[in-house]
Amino acid sequence: MASPALLKTCFEVMHFTGASRLFRSQFQGVGVVFCLHHVCPGGGVERGFSPNYQLEYSPDFLDSVISLVRVRGYDLISVGDVKERITNPAAYKRPFAVFTLDDGYRDNMIHAAPVFRKHDCPYAIYVCPRIAEGTAEIWWRALEAIIAGSQRLDIEIGGVRIDVETGEDVQKQQAWKSIFPLLKALPEYEQRIWIREACEQQGIDLGAYCRSVAMNWDELRLLNSDPLCTIGAHTLNHYAVARLSEDDARREIADSGRIVGGQLGEVIQTFAFPYGDEPAAGPRDFAIAKDAGYVCALTTRKGVVFPEHASHLHGLPRVMLSGRYQKLRYVDALISGTPLALLNRFRRVNVS
Ligand SMILES: [Zn+2]
Repeated sequence: MASPALLKTCFEVMHFTGASRLFRSQFQGVGVVFCLHHVCPGGGVERGFSPNYQLEYSPDFLDSVISLVRVRGYDLISVGDVKERITNPAAYKRPFAVFTLDDGYRDNMIHAAPVFRKHDCPYAIYVCPRIAEGTAEIWWRALEAIIAGSQRLDIEIGGVRIDVETGEDVQKQQAWKSIFPLLKALPEYEQRIWIREACEQQGIDLGAYCRSVAMNWDELRLLNSDPLCTIGAHTLNHYAVARLSEDDARREIADSGRIVGGQLGEVIQTFAFPYGDEPAAGPRDFAIAKDAGYVCALTTRKGVVFPEHASHLHGLPRVMLSGRYQKLRYVDALISGTPLALLNRFRRVNVS
């Protein structure tokens, strides 16, 4: 994985040398699917100890990305039209862009939906029933809260004992760097047990946090009444399905669509894999999503979409917008496809 500093340098070089423009026609593919999370004023700016800030973007940044994509000649389409655009590319002269937001945070309704409406731009929100019901463990935020609220931590995780001072921001950042990878690496069910116990010890109410940041079913139904909005499924519990047994993965993938659809009174057509990178979702899971009846499924494997994805509609790549790179020239370089082609060693399809 390239470091953020290296990636930034790569984007700058591409921008200032014109490399991204030069190779645009070769690498930009037939379209791009953006992946976002939180949209909130001041979002994406590191403020003291805020290790999840890269999952946030400001509404102004979203506004400018949509404008940029339009200026670059993209059709802004609904995720429901992606299959047609991939399987029938000759019928369309312009590339497509799709905006998707994962997890169903309330800030999407408050701060992102007005921006999409201003641009008449379709968008999709991927929802986990347990998050909408306020019973899921949003563990990466919970860990942030645990470290933020502590002066010292003495914990054991995955057989590793960590005993550190956490009074200062720099100590909190160090603690995050030590604990986050260990927590992420725990098997899915153990990870949730660990965070529940740690929250209990620190007096953090996981359910209250979940309910404070996530849209409930009433809010999702309201948002779904907007013709620009499509709601998709994102597992029941926000698990990395590749790390589950086949039966459990099947239940998470298929039942989430059934439950979301039941709540909204419609059939859910598309699915997004939580985390979505290679360790979180693989070929077995793409096949399960297909069996479950979804028209397409989205990963966060990095890439733009090519006609070759017609045979891999359940492992489509996305371009993740990171709060860390809230500059239009980075987005411009990304959608040219050039840095992604380099990253994928010029493979157009990465589904293995
Ligand atoms: Zn997610």
